Amino acid sequence: MSRSTRPGTSAIRASEAADASIVASRLEDLHRGARTELDHRDAFELLVATVLSAQTTDVRVNQVTPELFSRWSGPVALAGAEESDVTAILRPLGMGATRARRIIGLAQGLLEHHGGQVPDDQVALEALPGVGRKTAHVVRGAWFGHSLLAVDTHVGRLSRRLGWTERTDPRAVEEDVVARMDHDGSGAESEELTLLGLRMILHGRRVCTARSPRCGECVLADVCPRVGVA
Ligand code: SF4
Repeated sequence: MSRSTRPGTSAIRASEAADASIVASRLEDLHRGARTELDHRDAFELLVATVLSAQTTDVRVNQVTPELFSRWSGPVALAGAEESDVTAILRPLGMGATRARRIIGLAQGLLEHHGGQVPDDQVALEALPGVGRKTAHVVRGAWFGHSLLAVDTHVGRLSRRLGWTERTDPRAVEEDVVARMDHDGSGAESEELTLLGLRMILHGRRVCTARSPRCGECVLADVCPRVGVA
């Protein structure tokens, strides 16, 4: 599908935007083993860890989830947990009580509506407490193998610097990047958008950082419209 035929996309002059197929190929070479950095053993743990990662880092979440999942392994156990006990474990993340209420409610929702199973369904996931579009995309992409872009702060920033979007709302960024991939992308990988998102996150953390992008060592420097001026 041509970019110009998709509704809701912002006007990007192709000459100012980095070619998506080149970007995807170079990020694939650089971050070939990219995967979610949240430790998990099943879809439930990935869902809970992703919900917990809001407003904190994956590293911090990985520091608390081993104890969390060893005490309450699975939605049945977590749904019946004492909120104060869960709060104590989540306190290092900040907003421990809020996070505890959220994941207990999430476990209860899974039991009540899905027999304790994580549904591979966007609408059903977004109906669960604490689960938004990005979280649902992370789980459906990383666990169920769909091609879905999860837009976080790194994906949004990199997309704007590459000239793929001028917008900041995550849903709008997603639309523009998907349109750009439809326009330029190779489509060689069945999980193309999921992997692109994971690689963009790594690139945003390690190279195209918010305050001091390392353009001098960036593999995208020759195609990036913001090289040296980001
Ligand atoms: S060249 Fe600079 S601004 Fe462009 S993607 Fe690389 S680090 Fe980011």
